[in-house]
Amino acid sequence: MQTGLSWFFGFPLAKLVTTHSMDVVPKNRPPLDGQHFQVVVIGGGINGVAIARECARAKRRTLLLEQWDFGAGTTSRSTRLIHGGLRYLEHGEIGLVRESLRERRLLLRERPHLVRPMQLLLALGENSSRSALKVRMGLWLYRRLGGKAASNGSLDVSRFEQVLDSGRRWSIFSFEDAQCEFPERLVAEWLVEASEAGAVVRNHAQVLAIDVAYGRAKGVLVRDLLTGREEHVEASWIINATGPWADRVCQRSGIHTGGPMIGGVRGSHIILPRFRGAPTAAVFTEAVDRRPIFLIPWNEQILFGTTEVPDTTDPGKAQPSTEEVEYLLNSLHSLFPGAQVSMSDIRYAFAGVRPLPYVGKSSPSAITRRHSLHDHAKEGVQRMISVIGGKLTTAAQLARECAHKIGVPWAPSSGMAVLPAKGMEASIDDLCAEIAAVSGISETAADAIVEWHGKRTLAIAELARGHAEMRAPLCPHTEHIVAEVADALQNEFAVTLADVLLRRVPVALGGCWSEECSRTAAARIGSAMGWGDRETSSGLEALERERNEFLRKPS
Ligand SMILES: Cc1cc2nc3c(=O)[nH]c(=O)nc-3n(C[C@H](O)[C@H](O)[C@H](O)COP(=O)(O)OP(=O)(O)OC[C@H]3O[C@@H](n4cnc5c(N)ncnc54)[C@H](O)[C@@H]3O)c2cc1C
Repeated sequence: MQTGLSWFFGFPLAKLVTTHSMDVVPKNRPPLDGQHFQVVVIGGGINGVAIARECARAKRRTLLLEQWDFGAGTTSRSTRLIHGGLRYLEHGEIGLVRESLRERRLLLRERPHLVRPMQLLLALGENSSRSALKVRMGLWLYRRLGGKAASNGSLDVSRFEQVLDSGRRWSIFSFEDAQCEFPERLVAEWLVEASEAGAVVRNHAQVLAIDVAYGRAKGVLVRDLLTGREEHVEASWIINATGPWADRVCQRSGIHTGGPMIGGVRGSHIILPRFRGAPTAAVFTEAVDRRPIFLIPWNEQILFGTTEVPDTTDPGKAQPSTEEVEYLLNSLHSLFPGAQVSMSDIRYAFAGVRPLPYVGKSSPSAITRRHSLHDHAKEGVQRMISVIGGKLTTAAQLARECAHKIGVPWAPSSGMAVLPAKGMEASIDDLCAEIAAVSGISETAADAIVEWHGKRTLAIAELARGHAEMRAPLCPHTEHIVAEVADALQNEFAVTLADVLLRRVPVALGGCWSEECSRTAAARIGSAMGWGDRETSSGLEALERERNEFLRKPS
């Protein structure tokens, strides 16, 4: 079958009906001991993955090591906006806003299935410390720098005004930004591209120490957390992209940095069901203490946050405090007094630590969100760089800068266009219909799969075709199917059930996901993959443990 959409995948959809295989073998983990890499990247958050991809594409032999799973750190605990950062204009960060807007444009064009334009309503109450005139000027500048004005067409501003606190006068503005509902998926796509370009990528592999000899970083000692095996790897360059863990990695290796590099700032969010009268648009407004705060429709729920609390404790144990959750609820009630939402309605809360540069005592809001690259040569350790700060939005640019710093010539932005944004909806509808027709899955399931997996949908449809177990939904409330999990295990470096259900196929972030759903999914996946009972139940146990640690129901 030839199709006008074949180019979407780079090869004909006919492949769907000419080959089939049920052999789903997770990629094995060949030993690393004694190998030499030109670049070893420590940390598989969005920044580490982007850097590994950039270096591998520049033909550097690259190894990426992540202690948990790719994207499981700060990257999956963010507000999930791909934004120019309108509020950074308050702090005069015009360069950062310009750069963010450029990167946002690129992501919208290159990853239209994952990064989507989003209209925001900016609501300022009469007591706001920000004057309406200043905000107007800020929006004007934002648009001049490359932001787009939102068309008010689809926004019901007057309906929105009705749900706001009617005892206050509000100024409401609209503007356009973008949302990546699942940065975990963006990380997975960049990871596959890094691997295709030659990078060796390894999750559940913790760097215990960086070897330094004669004033030079020489390699790392890494422990495979699945097998307990410890291995030495040599490196020409080491990039410490461990986000809020960056100082810890240095301390553990006896690398002195002349003071902390990172000043961690915890941010917490609460996830709520759509409450009665909840705005359908994303809202950027002020919390009870006038800090900026977002209410965002996300994953068929409401994501509300965030907080800013200095936090230098173990980033792996970051949790929203009771005070933060109460602050968020109070802010929600002060904005939407009609919202009948109480603590027990919160589905879950989660926290992450922003790896901001250390600046001593300063208001967390005022600390720059601009990234920087700390070259340890100045402290006597050559060929080692630590990444400080950054945003989801600017990770690709950070990666280009980092690669350049270690000798890679400047490259133009290197993502691959998937579909032109214009006319995309129509094309995707056709694509879903074709996929459904040849693979035996429903059109709505095909639609859900395309949204998360873009061009990988072909491989997934191929797995699904002819095998009822692969076409089974992961639980009765989702369109997502077992074949997506099989593909993640086979091709996206997922190893555990938690890797899959929290990040590659993140159904477990859904509003109604429960322990029962985890059990059903584990049984269906285990059966399709030929796992034994013990393997399935230990995977389920680990998934539930990680899910409950990450997504806490406040008490
Ligand atoms: C509350 C909050 C909201 C945010 N909202 C936004 C937003 O809306 N838009 C935006 O653009 N940005 C946002 N950000 C910023 C953005 O999320 C982060 O800057 C970005 O995710 C940092 O990525 P990273 O790769 O540097 O760090 P991480 O994602 O934390 O990755 C570092 C990785 O290193 C690993 N690691 C640590 N130690 C070791 C070791 N010894 N060996 C191996 N691996 C190790 C960790 O497990 C972790 O996965 C937000 C951040 C927070 C906290």
